[in-house]
Amino acid sequence: MRFSFASLLRNAFSAHTGWPEQWRSPEPKAAYDVIIVGAGGHGLATAYYLAAEHGITNVAVVERGWLGGGNTGRNTTIIRSNYLWEESEALYDHALDLWQDLSQVLNYNVMYSPRGVMMLAHTVHDVQVSKRHVHANRLAGIQNEWLSPEEAKAFCPPLNISRDIRYPVMGAALQRKGGVARHDAVAWGYARAASALGVDIIQNCEVTAIRRGPDGAVTGIETTKGPIGAKKIGVVAAGHTSVVMGMAGLRMPLESYPLQALVSEPLKPVFPCVVMSNTIHAYISQSDKGDLVIGAGTDQYVSYSQTGGLHITTHTLDAICELFPMFRRVRMLRNWGGIVDVTPDRSPILAKTPVKGLFVNCGWGTGGFKATPGSGHVFAHTIARDEPHPKNAPFTLERFRDGRLIDEAAAAAVAH
Ligand SMILES: Cc1cc2nc3c(=O)[nH]c(=O)nc-3n(C[C@H](O)[C@H](O)[C@H](O)COP(=O)(O)OP(=O)(O)OC[C@H]3O[C@@H](n4cnc5c(N)ncnc54)[C@H](O)[C@@H]3O)c2cc1C
Repeated sequence: MRFSFASLLRNAFSAHTGWPEQWRSPEPKAAYDVIIVGAGGHGLATAYYLAAEHGITNVAVVERGWLGGGNTGRNTTIIRSNYLWEESEALYDHALDLWQDLSQVLNYNVMYSPRGVMMLAHTVHDVQVSKRHVHANRLAGIQNEWLSPEEAKAFCPPLNISRDIRYPVMGAALQRKGGVARHDAVAWGYARAASALGVDIIQNCEVTAIRRGPDGAVTGIETTKGPIGAKKIGVVAAGHTSVVMGMAGLRMPLESYPLQALVSEPLKPVFPCVVMSNTIHAYISQSDKGDLVIGAGTDQYVSYSQTGGLHITTHTLDAICELFPMFRRVRMLRNWGGIVDVTPDRSPILAKTPVKGLFVNCGWGTGGFKATPGSGHVFAHTIARDEPHPKNAPFTLERFRDGRLIDEAAAAAVAH
């Protein structure tokens, strides 16, 4: 059922008890044309675009927990496209374009809010790196501009630009059309739209093995709900990608780290934009509910635990209190962790693999939420046509063998 003024009015007469479930919850069929492993935003978007743009509707999305319960539902929702290298700019800006009317396309309010993302520079090196980004982005037609500390404060009045703090603000890069969206709504919107097109979303169903035929090609998966056949499998399992790909005998160039976020008690609207500091790993915005949404850096050690070290969040809060002294007495309500999959060059892998019929979409690390629509769009193309979309063609697995890295690590450290 479509959401519209008329359907809202109609359902008001039955006290909104007549709405159907938002997506179906079928038992798995014996076989599908395509299986997607992982019902995060990227997996669900892939399934949606397979059905909507390539007419492939005999698709299952298999999720070991609940949909959106991985990093998609745990992230701080920062959306921007001002990466350094042309390959990244093209991919992330493709996503930014798709965000613009995503709510209309999915008929689901994903609450995309382009309120501006400001990235602070605290040292001479930071200033040089940030300006390099601004220039590179502008050459590529990507929006980004340099602000003095005073201009940064005018854009974000709570910001402390005093010179005698540990992390003085020496300027900032601003992408005005960057912003945030509601993470759950993105997963739910894609799930609802994909399900309506015939995609089966199978939750509480863990993939335990990938089956391969005598020629090495994939033939299906083993799951906690039994075997399911398919000639094409797309693995979109974020922090568990190495585990799932290991089931097909592939060793991935990935490390999995805990990454944490936290929210405060709700406040009146006080914070107009998104502020990031990659140098000290502090990221902050205010949700529509009023909570301050704060992101920290990764733990220093690899782990599959969905928590993280307390000292990491303490360090982040120290920085937040210095940069925004008005928040010193705000109480924090909850914190949590996700498991992020980090590649050596901090760029994703969106590609075919050496195993016939097996595709992988991973390595988004600390910053893949922003790419959700673009990632799903180009990955669906790759699976449907057996060849990459021009925008994901450089994001191969082989680049770590051939040395054609897309090195966003040296450019920006790990950032949301
Ligand atoms: C605290 C935090 C803050 C972040 N902040 C930002 C940000 O501000 N901006 C940004 O752009 N990005 C951010 N990110 C990164 C972003 O969340 C991820 O890159 C993105 O959500 C990845 O989406 P996904 O769909 O690939 O993965 P996920 O949403 O993690 O989905 C993968 C799914 O695979 C499932 N799965 C795993 N193994 C199996 C199996 N064996 N069988 C079946 N299913 C399986 C998991 O249960 C999971 O649901 C942040 C991440 C974290 C943790």
